[in-house]
Amino acid sequence: MQPRSQSTAILGGAVSGLAVAHRLSRLDRFDDITVFERQDYNDRRVNCGEAINEAPLIPLDHTPGNGFVNDVEGFELRIFSGMDRSPDEAPLSIARFPCAAGYICERDVVERRWAESLGGCGVQFETGTAVSREAYRAIVSEYDYVVDATGEPALTLKANNAVDNYTGRMIALNATVEGDFSTYRRWPRIFFEGYLGYSWSFPKSDRHANVGIGWAGEQRPEHYVTALQEAARRNGFTVPDRSDINIYTIPRGPSLAPQYVSSPADRVFLVGDAAGIANRYQGEGICQGVRSAYLLGDLIETNQEAAYPERLYELMKPEYRLASIMRSAWVEHEDPELIAVIADAIDGLSIEAITRSPSRVLGRLMRHPAVAFRLFADPGVLRHVLRAYTDRWEYESGAGNRSTDKQGECLEA
Ligand SMILES: Cc1cc2nc3c(=O)[nH]c(=O)nc-3n(C[C@H](O)[C@H](O)[C@H](O)COP(=O)(O)OP(=O)(O)OC[C@H]3O[C@@H](n4cnc5c(N)ncnc54)[C@H](O)[C@@H]3O)c2cc1C
Repeated sequence: MQPRSQSTAILGGAVSGLAVAHRLSRLDRFDDITVFERQDYNDRRVNCGEAINEAPLIPLDHTPGNGFVNDVEGFELRIFSGMDRSPDEAPLSIARFPCAAGYICERDVVERRWAESLGGCGVQFETGTAVSREAYRAIVSEYDYVVDATGEPALTLKANNAVDNYTGRMIALNATVEGDFSTYRRWPRIFFEGYLGYSWSFPKSDRHANVGIGWAGEQRPEHYVTALQEAARRNGFTVPDRSDINIYTIPRGPSLAPQYVSSPADRVFLVGDAAGIANRYQGEGICQGVRSAYLLGDLIETNQEAAYPERLYELMKPEYRLASIMRSAWVEHEDPELIAVIADAIDGLSIEAITRSPSRVLGRLMRHPAVAFRLFADPGVLRHVLRAYTDRWEYESGAGNRSTDKQGECLEA
């Protein structure tokens, strides 16, 4: 028999943690929802790419005062022959992907305003102190539910000495710069230049932008900061000062191995980056984190939270399949011209489609048989497709670490 009123501790109060708090605050049975956030919401908290592709997921008015500063029409992908090129060289392809509900945000403002709004609905906030491993254990025994939204690496995995269960990492750098961004304010730019990753220039206004670069593969530059500054020169956006540049890692996994996203006996559940669910190809993770939080909330509402790992797996599957196939297009061919014709073929599809709908992307490619043939004639690409459609995309040999096989066994059991 369930107690009439219950308590939830949410560890980490960025987008994923706030989304859980929002969802659970709508359930009468919780009389105590407490968010433990190590930072203060008035601090400068995050400075990531700050593209929120599906703003309606966030229950705030999408106004500049709430941090939604640039209502974009979509994103423009520019494909170049490589990094060793003249600044005047024209792109091999310019493809545009509409994003009707997309914004470039001041994310610290979004999170501050969201926290304020939840505070007004009875959610408690304990800010300014990181939850230690010891405090974590006390919280787990005290609260009916614990949701770990501490990002990467998750506090739960730290407390259980399991952080090496992440399957890999992407590295990303970014900075906020000033300049003239008026010509492409509504179409933020992404630059692909012949490595597994990309650089970006996302205007927040006509006069300032978030710029950055990230690598999703094994091939990494010797000097990360210099690589971002050179990308800025090549691609015509303001070169950030070394002192303004932040370096981050983005997790890949352990997301889909059930034993790492929940511990039903302890009623501990991982959401967002803590669960390692950022996109495997382009690193987007804000909407992914919010979706995982809402999924968990839906399941808690109907007492089905034990199904969370499987339902998360189902939710993420199309996106991970597509990311796996997109990755393979570069990894197996290493041919910028092929990437350019693929970009031309999928030009005009929405960001939602190119992120989460393999069938729409593959459908478009099939309308260009010569491109599809070039892409899929490669046995390596076919192997990736096969792995993706047999749900083994996460666990390619060499992609992870010593626990990769263990996770693979778990999933395939
Ligand atoms: C450079 C870069 C650019 C990116 N660009 C984009 C983009 O444009 N669009 C997009 O969708 N995604 C982007 N991402 C990914 C995105 O930032 C993450 O996926 C997203 O932040 C995940 O949100 P989260 O709430 O799950 O975790 P986080 O944002 O990592 O938040 C975790 C929270 O937990 C708190 N915390 C951690 N440990 C403790 C502790 N012990 N006790 C208490 N609190 C704790 C932290 O202070 C933080 O507030 C980018 C990432 C990087 C690195």
